[in-house]
Amino acid sequence: MKSLKTTCVHAGTIKDEKNGGVNSPIYTSTSYAYLDAEEAVYPRYYNIPNSEALGEKIAALEMAEKGMVFSSGMAAITSALLAFLEKGDHAIFQTGLYGGTFHFVSAELERFGIAYDIAADNNVETFEKLIRDNTKLVYIETPSNPLLKITDIAATAKLARKHGIISMIDNTFASPVNQTPLRQGIDVTIHSATKYLGGHSDICAGALACNEENFIRIRSMARSLGGSLNAQDVYLLERSIKTLVLRVEQQSANAGILAERLSGLEEILKVHYPGLPDHPEHETARAQMNGFGGMLSFELKNTDPVKFQRNLQLIRPTVSLGGLDTIICSPTMTSHRHLSTEDRIREGISDNLLRLSVGIEDVDDLWADLKQAI
Ligand SMILES: *Cc1c(COP(=O)(O)O)cnc(C)c1O
Repeated sequence: MKSLKTTCVHAGTIKDEKNGGVNSPIYTSTSYAYLDAEEAVYPRYYNIPNSEALGEKIAALEMAEKGMVFSSGMAAITSALLAFLEKGDHAIFQTGLYGGTFHFVSAELERFGIAYDIAADNNVETFEKLIRDNTKLVYIETPSNPLLKITDIAATAKLARKHGIISMIDNTFASPVNQTPLRQGIDVTIHSATKYLGGHSDICAGALACNEENFIRIRSMARSLGGSLNAQDVYLLERSIKTLVLRVEQQSANAGILAERLSGLEEILKVHYPGLPDHPEHETARAQMNGFGGMLSFELKNTDPVKFQRNLQLIRPTVSLGGLDTIICSPTMTSHRHLSTEDRIREGISDNLLRLSVGIEDVDDLWADLKQAI
């Protein structure tokens, strides 16, 4: 097997037979010859040349049979869920889901006659207690947003196999550099490619990887929902993924150093980072991750969080994550603003919690900025 760095650069590249160029040509057509074709080629069928090629790259990264790209992470998530769930089914979701996923699940599933539980905690024993005769699917997201909690991937996959249900993971935070869940037995791994796979804060896209059988099923639903990605953005995403390992390794290393330094500061109440030995699921993280990722969050003790963010000079208070630039956000003011105060407290998300998406800058410059802002 080739190393991930090589896979990032070479897998799924379209050979430029005509000119011998190193990069994949961009095929912009929305109309393709059909007379001698096996099946119609059309952007929304997810089978134009650039989409198919990038699907191969995604599959290679996740060590899957098949990969697919979408116009957003939510397009990938909704297509995957609706491909497997139908009227009368039941699904189990872990707690601490990405806001958009939580909204989709809580606002839409019941309308389609699909019952669900959101687990009270992310222990696999808790998931097992929620399994009913009609349970079809278990869905996890680890590390989670914004508290970087860890769910045991292999144990979840084992549980799903035991009960004959589908297992899915949102692998956005770890990226395939730090975690390859299909190898631990998960059926479908999903990404918001807007984050690490895109990596430059300039593409909105999604991706997933799974085996051929599940792929056919998901693609059929995806063709109806219509969340395909245009060829130009597919190309941009392909280009971004070439540097995925370099970026994520640097981001993870920076985050590890900042997490450690922040935990030593008197002005910080708590740092949430799976790489810290005092993280409650540190051992599970060590077992299932290659690196602990570029995301961390921390709670300020007596510093006003808004003032702190305004004091920052290099690090910018903006939404989203996974880009080259280090950015910071307050979950209560952004991703979790729609939750009631009780729900936020129950999830452990306080007003003085700040989430850092660590970029590729020099870590000492980032540290200096954080320190002067405090
Ligand atoms: C951003 C994000 C999503 C949704 O992706 P979009 O590209 O915004 O649709 C899903 N899961 C996680 C963990 C995310 O961070």
